[in-house]
Amino acid sequence: MLLEIDGLQSFYGRSQALFGIHLDMAEGEVVALMGRNGMGKTTTIKSLCRILPYRNGSIRFCGQDIAGLRPHRVARLGIGLVPEGRRCFSNLTVHENLVVAARPGLWTLERINALFPRLKERHGQYANTLSGGEQQMLAVGRALMTNPKLLILDEATEGLAPVIRQEIWSAVRALKDEGQSILIVDKTLKELLKVADRCVILERGQNVWLGTPAELSAEIQDRYLGV
Ligand code: ATP
Repeated sequence: MLLEIDGLQSFYGRSQALFGIHLDMAEGEVVALMGRNGMGKTTTIKSLCRILPYRNGSIRFCGQDIAGLRPHRVARLGIGLVPEGRRCFSNLTVHENLVVAARPGLWTLERINALFPRLKERHGQYANTLSGGEQQMLAVGRALMTNPKLLILDEATEGLAPVIRQEIWSAVRALKDEGQSILIVDKTLKELLKVADRCVILERGQNVWLGTPAELSAEIQDRYLGV
């Protein structure tokens, strides 16, 4: 197993946000983490990256218990996070942002440039002068440059123009075709269901449904994802 989350409970101060999350992922899988706003998707991701310490339950990544590890140690184990709200180093150029993240593996600068040709065109530009979509591509590129075993995309297409969204989705599909394991949160259900192997739905910090996109009926969507 690539990832085994078992009985995860997390808190913000005294306020409990997760009440026992279970999530398994095999290598090469694309898993969609779903649920309405505030149901615990980002909190699950933060706990997994140890940005938020969790109090109960266990998280094993490639068989290793990550409890007690600092966030940078978890990243080094092979978890590449593209956080909500895309974080790049704004005072570094595109090129610098990519190379500072680099760790040996299949993903190199050349391959990132091939995946996102716009980044190649902008390689000398400071990250804070990029459009939102370009910053998002850079955030994905940076995460890939670490050659992660697991790539996590939290709302990677949020707030972007439709044409840019499509570029991000085709990159996600290309990554999937290469066997990249991806845990993904996104509000665009149509695209999400096309790329996911399995879906996990959270409600109020707990799992309420698990299955394939084909099994996700209109009724389930209405019950757990409808507004
Ligand atoms: P969204 O799509 O809105 O980001 P989400 O499913 O990712 O939703 P979380 O952000 O994980 O939801 O939020 C889960 C719960 O934790 C919510 O009840 C939220 O109010 C609470 N929460 C999130 N961040 C904090 C914080 N920094 N401090 C206190 N409570 C928080």
